[in-house]
Amino acid sequence: MGVNGLMMQMPLLVSSLLEHAERHHKDSEVVSRRTEGDLHRTTLKEIAGRARQLASALTELGVQQGENVATMAWNNYRHLEIYYAVSGMGAVTHTLNPRYSPQQLIYILNHAKNRTVFFDQTFAPLVKGIAAHCPTVERWVMMVDEDKMPAELPTENVLNYEAILAKGDAGYVWPQFDENAACGLCYTSGTTGNPKGVLYSHRSSVLHAMVAGQPDGIGLCSKDTVLPVVPMFHVNAWGLPYLAMMTGFKLVLPGPRLDGASIYELLEAEKVTLAAGVPTIWLGLLNYVQQNNLKFSTFNKTLVGGAAIPISMIRALDALGVSTMQGWGMTEMSPLGTISKIQGPDLNLPKEEQFARIAKQGKALFGVDMKIVDEAGSELPWGGEESGELLVRGPWIIDSYYGGGGEKAFSIDDSGKKWFATGDVSRIDSTGLMQITDRSKDVIKSGGEWISSIDLENIAMAHPAVLEAAAIAVNHPKWTERPILVVVKRPNAEVTRDELLKFYDGKIIKMYIPDDVVFVNELPHGATGKIQKLQLREQFKDYQLPE
Ligand code: AMP
Repeated sequence: MGVNGLMMQMPLLVSSLLEHAERHHKDSEVVSRRTEGDLHRTTLKEIAGRARQLASALTELGVQQGENVATMAWNNYRHLEIYYAVSGMGAVTHTLNPRYSPQQLIYILNHAKNRTVFFDQTFAPLVKGIAAHCPTVERWVMMVDEDKMPAELPTENVLNYEAILAKGDAGYVWPQFDENAACGLCYTSGTTGNPKGVLYSHRSSVLHAMVAGQPDGIGLCSKDTVLPVVPMFHVNAWGLPYLAMMTGFKLVLPGPRLDGASIYELLEAEKVTLAAGVPTIWLGLLNYVQQNNLKFSTFNKTLVGGAAIPISMIRALDALGVSTMQGWGMTEMSPLGTISKIQGPDLNLPKEEQFARIAKQGKALFGVDMKIVDEAGSELPWGGEESGELLVRGPWIIDSYYGGGGEKAFSIDDSGKKWFATGDVSRIDSTGLMQITDRSKDVIKSGGEWISSIDLENIAMAHPAVLEAAAIAVNHPKWTERPILVVVKRPNAEVTRDELLKFYDGKIIKMYIPDDVVFVNELPHGATGKIQKLQLREQFKDYQLPE
């Protein structure tokens, strides 16, 4: 080891983001659609003051540093205040995904030993159902105006958010502590087994936000207006609540209304420039806009992630003047690993080439190291046709699960570097552009080849009559597995099985073309908006392929 540099050690704390915002972006607006029904307006200065008050009130209530404090809430200003109050005081903001089953929520609340749970009034029935099974919880705090508290409360020990906050001291001073302290907790639900906790640190969250905002990342500045449709209850809304304080952009929070019409109304009324969400959300918005012949006046950039984006969606957004960025990552990665976007001279490429590029998952952000390995764990070269399991490492990537579990995902290579196996199968080209071909559990293994379900879905989605499609494996006596396509048609659109299969001609090698098409009214989606392939495979496990 050489000599130490002579620079200050200033811990990267979440509270430092808020202090920065309060000084430098105090008038930046935060607009929220509330469960009370109205549109609420505030500023970063007010949020900062209320977060300090809340932190002081929680301290008075006996909340300890290191304790997990849960939220079950939409994207709104109160949720933002809790993010900063809880993490800022040294406790852990534990966001619960209200779309999990009551059994999963009970498991998580018990596992995290939450004593305090904040909830939006929408989730009162959920609280009523689970409260008796959550012995560690001492108080349930309803996030609603005091005069709107319902006469009938969902359980005992329900407090009002505004009443608690009013007792706090706005002069509260954020404590300073080690940047490696935990600041947030989010449980991820694999396809099997109990959810596992991912515990973020102050350092990892601040570093992630710093890099995510860069021009080759999401690329945001103080002049933007950002609508995170991606929920604050899932991987911290991709870090946007932290980036908001760092950057000072105007933040528009959609609350409980995530349908196409409501999102469109907010985009227009609040002059949103960038919106972020999963593909299913944009399906709803695009349908609404196309059916009503509408246009966007300011909305021109979108960050889509959480599942692969079909090229047809990138094309449709482009036709409306919106350029798409694709983000790939996972709960275990805070979440951002790669971003795919077109910038600079690449804007002169033919549009279709641009779209094909964006449909790949993109290049790693600085800080994220990736490699692909074969089934024996040996590293595969970049630039070839080969795909393998994607492994990652970096300062905002999980080191181990909260309370253990999932140890198989971690490995140490010959040079002593630790890696996390993502469970995604991908290919990386010679320039470092990464493309996910499948979730390893969803790969279709046919006659010794791996057929990418994402490729099959992408082609189907480009057909004008297809609203949504999933390619899954069904058993085959000779080929082990063969792909079939499960399709939801657009309203009032027609397409037959044979027409759809013919649509694959020339777009993919013959043996990859699905053996059959099944039309359904709806595909099953999980708590984070992804198509539930496991459930589909279960549903079609005895499916008889045509001769
Ligand atoms: P979650 O932890 O629930 O956010 O899920 C992470 C998983 O979602 C990843 O491991 C991928 O399988 C999938 N995923 C996320 N973003 C993308 C993307 N842009 N393209 C394809 N799959 C994605």
